[in-house]
Amino acid sequence: MSLPSARPAVCVYCGARPGVGEQWLQYAHLMGEAIAARGWRLVYGGGNVGLMGAVADAALANGAEVIGVIPERLLTLEVAHRGLSELVVVQTMHQRKQRMAELSQGFVALPGGIGTFEELFEVWTWRHLGYHQYPIGLLNVQGFFDGLLSFLAHTEATGFTDASQHAMLTVEQDPGALLDRMASPMASSTGRFQLI
Ligand code: AMP
Repeated sequence: MSLPSARPAVCVYCGARPGVGEQWLQYAHLMGEAIAARGWRLVYGGGNVGLMGAVADAALANGAEVIGVIPERLLTLEVAHRGLSELVVVQTMHQRKQRMAELSQGFVALPGGIGTFEELFEVWTWRHLGYHQYPIGLLNVQGFFDGLLSFLAHTEATGFTDASQHAMLTVEQDPGALLDRMASPMASSTGRFQLI
């Protein structure tokens, strides 16, 4: 585990694909810029593909420190970003997600696929269970997550989730607005992420 740094680190989960149309890459770029503009560090899955590559490139181009965490198997498939401030190589996907969480004080999901969903739901479950107190943001650009939010309302109406769980998600359409709402809980959260 590394020691906490003075600069907050936000972990971004997002698509390894670019999506259809240019707009999704553009939003990832804006998120990378917004992280750098706040002097924060970016932690992410270490890939150079899709939205992942776009958010990392934009953060780096604007002076942010970017830490990628990637399993050895994906490294050898040559999808790793080779220009990062730091590339942490781990053995397994579980180690990767734990390491990404340990390095971060906040979590953001951008548009993505099953990998993004899995990471989002895992870190959300960890918060519900008390493993951390850090904020979790959803960048709901162009209504990407509207269907998910409707389904989550259905899960509350049917009694399988509750309002306190939903309140753990911060939802915004604009990258800067999302980070600004997360800044204070990121700074005030006490204790480190600990998966025990
Ligand atoms: P997906 O949303 O299915 O495109 O998966 C993206 C998420 O899963 C990212 O946040 C990564 O942490 C992880 N991931 C999936 N594919 C890759 C890849 N080729 N390189 C690095 N990370 C990946």
